[in-house]
Amino acid sequence: MVESVPMYTDRQWHIVCLRSANPEMKAAHIAREIGISREAVRQILNKIGLPTKVGVAPILPCEFCQRDIIGRSNRRFCSRKCYADSRYIYLKCMDCGIDFKRREKLHATNLKRGQIFIFCGRSCFGRYFGHLNKSTEVTRILEILKENNK
Ligand SMILES: [Zn+2]
Ligand SMILES: [Zn+2]
Repeated sequence: MVESVPMYTDRQWHIVCLRSANPEMKAAHIAREIGISREAVRQILNKIGLPTKVGVAPILPCEFCQRDIIGRSNRRFCSRKCYADSRYIYLKCMDCGIDFKRREKLHATNLKRGQIFIFCGRSCFGRYFGHLNKSTEVTRILEILKENNK
């Protein structure tokens, strides 16, 4: 994709240059530099999509639910619940097909240990592998599931 080059007026271009050369420069400072009002600078910055405030970290939405975070801007989640939920992933049981959640870390560990089968619990596992019951693979997976459900 070719990015279209925005066409700036001389004044806008001047502001873009000043702002990119001095990212910390306040709108009031730019205004003095160019000789226009602070409000005019703010409007131009808005128009060309540059931040009007400097030195203030943008408040990003909650990483889990995408809602706005109220209060301190250095938080990644809007609530304890979102923080806790963000550590879970939803998996589909290979036997009964229901979605269930499991801690992401645990799932990663399981994969590392070679557990490519995903079951919501032991009974689904049992149904799926009923005919293989004595194999070492089954025993190993059963052990992993037992640990998971602790
Ligand atoms: Zn949230
Ligand atoms: Zn299941």
